[in-house]
Amino acid sequence: MKNRTVLLVHPEVSRTKYDFAGIIDNEPLELEYIFAMLKNSGWEPYIWDGQVEKQPFIKRLAELSPAAVYISGRTRQEGFMKEYAKASKASGTLTMIGGLHAQRCYSRFFTDYIDFVFTGFDIAPIMEILSGEAPDKISSVCWKRNGKWTMNKAKPSDISALPRPDRSYFYQHTDRYRYLELLPAAHVRTAYCCPYKCRFCLRNTLNCGCYSARDIADVVDEIHSIECENIYIIDDDFLFGEERLREFIRLIRQRNIRKRYVCYGRADFIAAHPDLMRELKSIGFYYVLVGLEAADERYLESYNKRSDMEANVKAVSILNDVGINVMGMFIVDLDFTGKDFRRIWQWVRKNKLRHAAVSIFTPEMNSELISEYKDRLVTRDPAHWDYLHVVAKPEKLSVRRYYFHYHILLIRLFVRAWRQGIYDFVDYGFFIKSFLKNLFKFGG
Ligand code: SF4
Repeated sequence: MKNRTVLLVHPEVSRTKYDFAGIIDNEPLELEYIFAMLKNSGWEPYIWDGQVEKQPFIKRLAELSPAAVYISGRTRQEGFMKEYAKASKASGTLTMIGGLHAQRCYSRFFTDYIDFVFTGFDIAPIMEILSGEAPDKISSVCWKRNGKWTMNKAKPSDISALPRPDRSYFYQHTDRYRYLELLPAAHVRTAYCCPYKCRFCLRNTLNCGCYSARDIADVVDEIHSIECENIYIIDDDFLFGEERLREFIRLIRQRNIRKRYVCYGRADFIAAHPDLMRELKSIGFYYVLVGLEAADERYLESYNKRSDMEANVKAVSILNDVGINVMGMFIVDLDFTGKDFRRIWQWVRKNKLRHAAVSIFTPEMNSELISEYKDRLVTRDPAHWDYLHVVAKPEKLSVRRYYFHYHILLIRLFVRAWRQGIYDFVDYGFFIKSFLKNLFKFGG
């Protein structure tokens, strides 16, 4: 290809105001890895991230006239991904799709305006396609053989093969990429996949279900090199493997790195390692995001969480004691009654959980779970797979009644957060008004 320009695209998350933009805006780390790989090989890559860009995609496309466009996103962004792929194809560009949604639901992108769909984490196939290698020799890619879609076998990827991400785009937008009050917050990934098998979660099926972790010294080296004092470790579960964590703490201290960290961790691990949590606090751990999921043992069992309520109580108490902010994440199940919503609220208060996030139980597309729910789906719009919408009919409540209880819970949590003075950068008035408006029906 004479034209060496490649446009790497992450579409906006939503076009309504109800999208939590300005509260959590994620650095497009996947695109920055691809950017580094392409740049190192003599291509001319550009990133366009709809979360932060002021210039519309169409204008950027016309301005650059790239040889190829790579678009990545999650389920809720599918419509935007397709819209941008269509526009790119109309301008004569090679179109490639990747990211978490495409890995699981690749066939949803089998259209005439898309040329390649990548089904793994490995970024090398993108380069192989651009370099003109025969697609039948490339793994983890779907392509068209004589106009008919065909799927090459997906291979697990070794995370150590990734280059260092090129963060020049992040540094241009440090006024936007954030995790709550941590602004800016840079993303770091140290592992692919998750060794657990919670029933509602697809994370453990990514990378062909293979857990792959980086050498921890290399991770510390990368963190040291990032010009940002807030580091969001985006592994599905960073608090895994005591020895690896102890080595992480040792190296951070040895190199005298002073930053604040956000990571995900499981309640059972935290409950079993109070001393380790104290150590993590001492090196700067600021938020730990914990999938508490429920306020009732029955749900933890049915979700195959392999943890229990005792661990949940203990984990919150340990993190509160050592002074790490716990972001407790809950699922409101589709068989909830009003009492179950209230039980979550009571649990939050009783256990002095300051930060809580609530997701509506969502059977993921192309999962075993969705076949169980296929007759109960109330929407097929991928934009609704955002954990804020009811996608399948609740068992014991009407959809309206379910939203009513859900929004009452959100209002209670928001008013509590407001009274406690947390998230002071949030426009509470806007969100509480939205929740009130949506008491009977989700609007946005
Ligand atoms: S919910 Fe968390 S622990 Fe469970 S499978 Fe998903 S990422 Fe792993």
